[in-house]
Amino acid sequence: MAFLDKDVRVKNLVDPRVAYSWTCGDGNHEHTIECLWVWHKCDGSLLDPEAGKDYRGWMPSGVGLHTLISIEPLHIEASVYWPACCGLHGFIRNGKWESV
Ligand SMILES: [Zn+2]
Ligand SMILES: [Zn+2]
Repeated sequence: MAFLDKDVRVKNLVDPRVAYSWTCGDGNHEHTIECLWVWHKCDGSLLDPEAGKDYRGWMPSGVGLHTLISIEPLHIEASVYWPACCGLHGFIRNGKWESV
């Protein structure tokens, strides 16, 4: 998948609308929360001020300040939130998405 100029390989779906990826590209170390990007496939649209146009699709959420509790299955705390689009909000626990 391409997001802006970045190619991101999303490995694991936690929900049809939510996925995550390890952006470090290195499976040979112990991942930290900084490696993790969480993505959401939105039905809404987001105005990109740079491009001046609407785009739809997968959007990342910042989880750099979250706590990585378990890698497999994925469990992070606190909740993940996309305020810029539809406002999707929930938890990723035991490899699954839990809507709030
Ligand atoms: Zn890593
Ligand atoms: Zn959304």
